[in-house]
Amino acid sequence: MKIAILSRKASLYSTRRLVEAAKQRGHEVSVIDPLRCYMNINSTSPTIHYKGESLSDFDAVIPRIGASISFYGTAVVRQFEMKGVFSVNESVAITRARDKLRSLQLLSRKGIGLPITGFAHSPDDTEDLINMVGGAPVVIKLLEGTQGLGVVLAETSNAAKSVVEAFFNLDANIMIQEYIKEAKGADLRCFVVNGKVVAAMQRQGPAGEFRSNLHRGGSAKLIKITPEERATAVRAAHIMGLNIAGVDILRSARGPLVMEVNASPGLEGIEKATNKDVAGMIIKFIEEHAKPNKTRTKGKG
Ligand code: ADP
Repeated sequence: MKIAILSRKASLYSTRRLVEAAKQRGHEVSVIDPLRCYMNINSTSPTIHYKGESLSDFDAVIPRIGASISFYGTAVVRQFEMKGVFSVNESVAITRARDKLRSLQLLSRKGIGLPITGFAHSPDDTEDLINMVGGAPVVIKLLEGTQGLGVVLAETSNAAKSVVEAFFNLDANIMIQEYIKEAKGADLRCFVVNGKVVAAMQRQGPAGEFRSNLHRGGSAKLIKITPEERATAVRAAHIMGLNIAGVDILRSARGPLVMEVNASPGLEGIEKATNKDVAGMIIKFIEEHAKPNKTRTKGKG
């Protein structure tokens, strides 16, 4: 098969591993920088050009679209879909997952366990907002944050009020969440491929840090997850419409709580922690599912 990996850099671990796995399984593979693609949108033959040439004949694309290029990146994925090329994750599903508010609203509607969460932009009553999610301690998150930046634990009502008001002054959208103390600075990353958790790891923050992000000095290890956690991760990916997803879960006293569903989950942490060939599983998924015009949405939405 001919597979395109939409990625900004061929040297990134995830991109390298996908290239390697595709070659190993006998496929032809190209890494294409989505920002360098330019497109002709017309009603008869939508085209995509890259470095002066028309991209055609691909059987499948693997979008590795970082949060910072969601807008243009998903437009490129959509253009491939319009050409009938199979995308491992559909553009609409990626867009859905990138919107944290929309994602939590969708998950809550389907009864997935979530930390009690408030959304706000500039409320007149900060105290009421804090009380709405159960009062301090609370976790306050900037909606635009990634890798744990812009995620603050406010231990007292006064601290929470100050942080919320500081964020409002920045004109930011924020999320305010009950603090899940019993998670003890750890979370689970469940890697879902085609409706199955194929690998799972636990990430633990360094001593005294409630954030488990590997970028914040956290460490990862292989973990056995419970059937309930497994089912939650699979359902969350399904609700988002993602074939490939990284579902982040907090272990709470009332069961698994989903924090986030990632549409372009990294491979480095999960492959190293679990010793599993996750890249190979993604390529296998393509082999089993990529057929021309099997893009459910065909660029709609
Ligand atoms: P980002 O998307 O920037 O990584 P997250 O929302 O995943 O931000 O938060 C970063 C980390 O902080 C999580 O991995 C988790 O360990 C911790 N965390 C986030 N929200 C909560 C919460 N409500 N209760 C306890 N810990 C949390």
